[in-house]
Amino acid sequence: METITVIGAGTMGKGIAYAAAISGYKVFVNDISIEALNQAKEYIMELLDSSVEKGFITEEQAETAKESLYFEQDIEIAAKKADLVIEAVLEKIELKVEIFRKVDQICPEHTILATNTSTMSPTEIAAQTSRPDRCIAMHFFNPVHKMKLIEIIKGLETSEETILKVKDVAKKMNKETVEVNEFPGFVTSRISCLIGNEAMNMLMEGVASAEDIDKAIKLGLNHPMGPLELADLVGLDSRLRNMEHLHKTLGEKYRPSPLLVKYVKAGRLGRKTGKGFYDYSQKK
Ligand code: NAD
Repeated sequence: METITVIGAGTMGKGIAYAAAISGYKVFVNDISIEALNQAKEYIMELLDSSVEKGFITEEQAETAKESLYFEQDIEIAAKKADLVIEAVLEKIELKVEIFRKVDQICPEHTILATNTSTMSPTEIAAQTSRPDRCIAMHFFNPVHKMKLIEIIKGLETSEETILKVKDVAKKMNKETVEVNEFPGFVTSRISCLIGNEAMNMLMEGVASAEDIDKAIKLGLNHPMGPLELADLVGLDSRLRNMEHLHKTLGEKYRPSPLLVKYVKAGRLGRKTGKGFYDYSQKK
């Protein structure tokens, strides 16, 4: 494994690209939006500099990472030399299937195709390719540079060799892994979405303020973040898509909170738009 291509340069894609670049991989970052690519570049460069200042990585590591990153809008150029593709586009099955079909055509035979889906079926996505044994889900967490875990989800046809290879990549990125059999929402999203949704319903019912719900969960239950601030970090549009998929596949207890639906309709998507359950417009 030498070259990793990350498709989708949003919240997760830019974090995954950073983690791959500081771990010694050559990294192609692809997005259909030039604006997203430029923002990802700016984010990664700033993060490399601040990580050096804070002593998390060496200056040499940052320089090597900067030289090994390529930002490329043309998927053909971005993916044709990849040993591993990590797809991090929106949580929409049609879109993921379209990307997998495309990279299956573009990439060499040995290339492993991974999806960073939070909830969806790697088997269903892999079935659209000619290499279901080399397809898998690598579920990273936000923000990628701080979060230790990658949840590895095996599809029905995923080979042992593919699992070993992606675990090796995770190890090089200094991440821990858990291996999960495919089921909607895996381990983490299935639990986190439920907690977040309940918190949103409690806020809607007037049980407590957003600040007090988050404070109660942090100090009372020892979670590092409150469920509402976490949802703002994830992005409320992404969270709604996750809830809709889990509602469809796992049933009524995952019905998206009406408050979440309302916020997304209003364009309040959390940190990325400056407002969600909290107002970030004054903070950088
Ligand atoms: P995002 O909206 O921040 O970014 C998605 C990016 O994909 C955008 O920049 C968009 O321009 C790009 N894109 C759309 N269509 C494309 C195409 N055809 N080709 C290339 N790029 C395309 O989304 P996100 O929050 O980073 O989520 C990405 C994936 O990661 C989703 O599957 C999500 O469920 C998963 N995930 C998200 C989080 C989180 O906290 N946000 C955590 C774990 C996993």
